[in-house]
Amino acid sequence: MSIQTVNPNTNKTLKSFEEMTEKVIEAKVVKAQNAFTDWKESSYQQRADLLHKVATLMRNKKSALAKTITLEMGKVIAQAEGEIDLSANIFDYYADHGEAFLADKVLNPEYGSAIIRNSPIGVLLGVMPWNFPFYQMARFVAPNIMVGNTILLKHASIVPQCAAVIQELFEEAEAPEGLYTNLFITGKRASALVSDKRIKGISFTGSEEAGSSIAMEAGKHLKKVVLELGGSDVFIILEDADMDKTVEWAVFGRMNNNGQSCVASKRFIAVEAIADTFIQKFKDALSKMNVGDPMDPETDLGPMSSEEAAVHLADQVKRSVDEGAKVSLGGKRADRDGAFMEPTILTDLKPGIAAYHEELFGPVASFYVVKDEQAAIDLANDSDFGLSGSVYTQDIERGKRVADQIDTGMVFINHPTQTQPNFPFGGTKRSGFGRELSELGIQEFVNKKLIRVS
Ligand code: NDP
Repeated sequence: MSIQTVNPNTNKTLKSFEEMTEKVIEAKVVKAQNAFTDWKESSYQQRADLLHKVATLMRNKKSALAKTITLEMGKVIAQAEGEIDLSANIFDYYADHGEAFLADKVLNPEYGSAIIRNSPIGVLLGVMPWNFPFYQMARFVAPNIMVGNTILLKHASIVPQCAAVIQELFEEAEAPEGLYTNLFITGKRASALVSDKRIKGISFTGSEEAGSSIAMEAGKHLKKVVLELGGSDVFIILEDADMDKTVEWAVFGRMNNNGQSCVASKRFIAVEAIADTFIQKFKDALSKMNVGDPMDPETDLGPMSSEEAAVHLADQVKRSVDEGAKVSLGGKRADRDGAFMEPTILTDLKPGIAAYHEELFGPVASFYVVKDEQAAIDLANDSDFGLSGSVYTQDIERGKRVADQIDTGMVFINHPTQTQPNFPFGGTKRSGFGRELSELGIQEFVNKKLIRVS
């Protein structure tokens, strides 16, 4: 059985779920389609009321929901609680602003009148990952419910209890049947569902491989797709950075969510003048991290999401070392049960070494020393990924100039990448296309219909 809760803190299987049969899936697609017929006629007020209800339920159940996240994918408990708050805020944000974002745009033609109206398009399929089981869902689902679309959601197979409880939140909020539907299916089955005529758009977050497979199907069937894939974000430290603050952000940027975030800081690039000071302080801070049970509030770094993920990361480190990288800290699986990896720093990385090119989705930092600002920018852009990045300097104008030259969808100055309901989120290059959150995210799955009066 592939849909299971396995506690990564112990690697013990706790619960298994049956994959849905074709008959059950068909019935759910029919219900989603029927729900769309009514939901597209609902008022913005009705939609906003539902989103607010779900947000309130999330906040009321925060402790239990956070424990489910931590149990299934190992994030430390305070961060799981933070994820619930953020998700509830996203629901409230679209409830409060969605109508204004979707208002008719009035054009000024030479004669008569014309407007652009935003209409819903139908049933959408979301394929979501395990790293933020609630937040990833929220940023796709909340705006689209406000638009008037309905949702089928295939969640990652390692977070089925999160998937089930999200469905229950909608039921408890008295959402119409079929408005939000959890599908217990495999990735392959989700990819096949893309061809179903009743599904009008697909939002995917996860690996390049699965994203490419979904996008190929969507292309074949001429459907809109939003892709949010991997990243290998830079963390550039210039000579005038506030060093102590920068080191704190470096630890947070790399280790938040046990290092498993698409926008985690992964490539640390320091200019020569301060490189030794930075790496020494960074190393000291990572060595002091309390690695352990993610349910324990004293823990700083929990396990990776699964044994498979930890094995994969340890293999990436080993291959990199075999190819010439050096280990400055850690470098091995932690000496305890569960899917743990030691906080690790790799140095001496060059083109041709695995860690130079691949995304390291866990607590492993790549460290580079460069001559100057221009060399930092060049190295930053020598990546297939283009999601986000951050720059550390006390000269804000300089930070903005550097930001301008980094080829990514987002750049932050003096802070690792932050997600907020009102900031657009998304990348360029192999990190995907389309935007989530903010006013832009709600425009992805709408028909921008021109209505012209002559
Ligand atoms: P996947 O891309 O395999 O999983 C993400 C989602 O896609 C899951 O729901 C998964 O389902 C589904 N899926 C898997 N294969 C297919 C397919 N062929 N067609 C349609 N859907 C599919 O990521 P992993 O969990 O395996 O992680 C691998 C790597 O992906 C990570 O190391 C990281 O580099 C990247 N990643 C990036 C994330 C991000 O936030 N951008 C999040 C997670 C991973 P199922 O669970 O059933 O396989």
